[in-house]
Amino acid sequence: MPEVFVGLGANLGEPAVQLRGAVQALAALPHTEVKKVSTFYRSSAIGPAGQPDYCNAVAQLDTAMAPEPLLDALLAIEDAASRVRGERWGARLLDLDLLLYGQMVCSTARLTLPHPELAFRDFVLWPLIEIAPEVQVPLLGRARDLLDKLPTPALSEWI
Ligand code: ATP
Ligand code: CA
Ligand code: CA
Repeated sequence: MPEVFVGLGANLGEPAVQLRGAVQALAALPHTEVKKVSTFYRSSAIGPAGQPDYCNAVAQLDTAMAPEPLLDALLAIEDAASRVRGERWGARLLDLDLLLYGQMVCSTARLTLPHPELAFRDFVLWPLIEIAPEVQVPLLGRARDLLDKLPTPALSEWI
């Protein structure tokens, strides 16, 4: 089976609670097991200032789901998490990105693999390397070497 990695993020509501719920939802997907989950990290939000910190993590899956159905499942888990809070049009309480699907490379209207921002985000690379120290990013090389090119990460454990 390919090594599949999902990035989890939340900065509204109770971020760690939403991330734990998302891990359970991933484990409940058909023909899917959650193999590893990283530590939950705290990172400063990118984008507009004044946003709450993000809780970020990466999970490794063993899955027989194909990439596009898996993306659909991730978006459905995001939707379900938002409905729990009942916020309409609000910022999302949960973001699930498909980071890597083995060594697959693709770029369609709905799905780009590897995730296009992966190489530029310490809050993704750090937890990814924690659970998969030798993981290779297709076309770009070892995740660890990508992280080394970025400024020193300013992440702490979520607690
Ligand atoms: P970013 O992708 O920079 O992290 P984001 O997570 O905030 O931004 P979203 O609004 O969550 O972006 O996603 C927009 C769309 O991106 C999704 O509807 C999905 O079709 C598309 N997409 C393309 N490639 C991927 C991928 N590898 N993982 C998740 N979504 C993807
Ligand atoms: Ca994202
Ligand atoms: Ca997303």
